[in-house]
Amino acid sequence: MPSAEQPAPSAITRADAVGLDRDDPLAECRGRFALPSGVIYLDGNSLGALPAHTAARLTQVIENEWGAGLIRSWNDAGWFDKPTSVGDRLAPLIGADAGEVLIAESTSTSLYSATVAAARLRPERATVVSHAGNFPTDLYILEAVQRSLGLQRRLIEDPSRGLAEVLDDDVAVVVLTHVDYRTGRMLDLPALTRQVHEVGALVVWDLCHSVGAVPLDLSAAGADFAVGCTYKYLNGGPGSPSFLYCARRHQAQAEPPLSGWQGHARPFDFTPDYQPADGISRFRIGTPQLLSLAGLEASLDIWADVDLLALRRKSLSLTGLFMDVVEARLPDLEIVTPRSPEQRGSQVSLRHRAGAFPIVQALIERGVIGDFRAPDLMRFGFAPLYLSHADVWDAAATLADVVTTGVWREDRLQQRGTVT
Ligand SMILES: *Cc1c(COP(=O)(O)O)cnc(C)c1O
Repeated sequence: MPSAEQPAPSAITRADAVGLDRDDPLAECRGRFALPSGVIYLDGNSLGALPAHTAARLTQVIENEWGAGLIRSWNDAGWFDKPTSVGDRLAPLIGADAGEVLIAESTSTSLYSATVAAARLRPERATVVSHAGNFPTDLYILEAVQRSLGLQRRLIEDPSRGLAEVLDDDVAVVVLTHVDYRTGRMLDLPALTRQVHEVGALVVWDLCHSVGAVPLDLSAAGADFAVGCTYKYLNGGPGSPSFLYCARRHQAQAEPPLSGWQGHARPFDFTPDYQPADGISRFRIGTPQLLSLAGLEASLDIWADVDLLALRRKSLSLTGLFMDVVEARLPDLEIVTPRSPEQRGSQVSLRHRAGAFPIVQALIERGVIGDFRAPDLMRFGFAPLYLSHADVWDAAATLADVVTTGVWREDRLQQRGTVT
């Protein structure tokens, strides 16, 4: 909901937030998650919350399918087909058709597979393009693609504007992240896809911070390839496998870089030479991570009946409310995330030059969990399925308290762990 429909920022009270919750069609979804009490969880963009039925599902897979079924479960429990059958269940969340999505490995691995396959579809071209501020693994993987295929790279500072300057008929592939992990800024996926296609190049979209947060329609946009995490907004669990999308029109020609036995047309013929499977299965590599996949499958039960437009409305309402309260209470704090709804995902990032890390630590001590991104950003993710407006109001009030009292300057809040 655009913030224009809400009262003027300074006038927003907790009662107003509670009022917004009364009209929330997704309010009952919160009960589908096992969240600890006393915690307001604003880090679902990094690791999604635990669905209430996942533990029982994993136990069932371990005890019945693995323990009792043993190797028979490859057939009897549909294990061998899980990468594609679960991919088909995820497909509606990204606007893909059945047969276009594979669940496999990590986002980093899938990005490598998709980008090499895309570049090989444009063999006469020698340049790959990406965003200088992209998530580091995306840039590192792109370096690996360059080394493997002998390509050069052009990086742009602002993907919403800078593409035109670098696109020409030497560009094979453009790799873009739809929602920026630092700023929460969202790109215009259909428009940029069109722009890339105008010079005959292909696009690989990274949807890590989009899937389960904003509605996506890869088919309508004519996207070529996409990858994304399932452990962020989708709540698949720590290390749940990634997804890889390859538009059906590219599948017959696509040559993935890693020709593992499970991507073979007839893996159980055990022939010495490689022949790729038809369709998306040719992107399979080795044995799928079935226990992690079971966590994702459990979370997809929740997603099956979520109205993605209602999800988006609530997401904008939550992020809008947070920005309004922060702006009213902490007018000196820089809000990095774009205000305009078309340009933001489901997170809000705030800049504090001296205190971003310890402020986040002080919030965590008070049960408000967000995270810190170097050098000076505080990042708050808003998962519409399990957060209420009252949570958001309370989180913003806690932040205002931590910042205005200066409690974050205490020594014990400055200690950094391995993961920030
Ligand atoms: C979280 C994230 C990743 C993570 O990659 P993994 O291989 O799953 O560790 C990649 N790209 C972006 C944009 C991300 O936000």
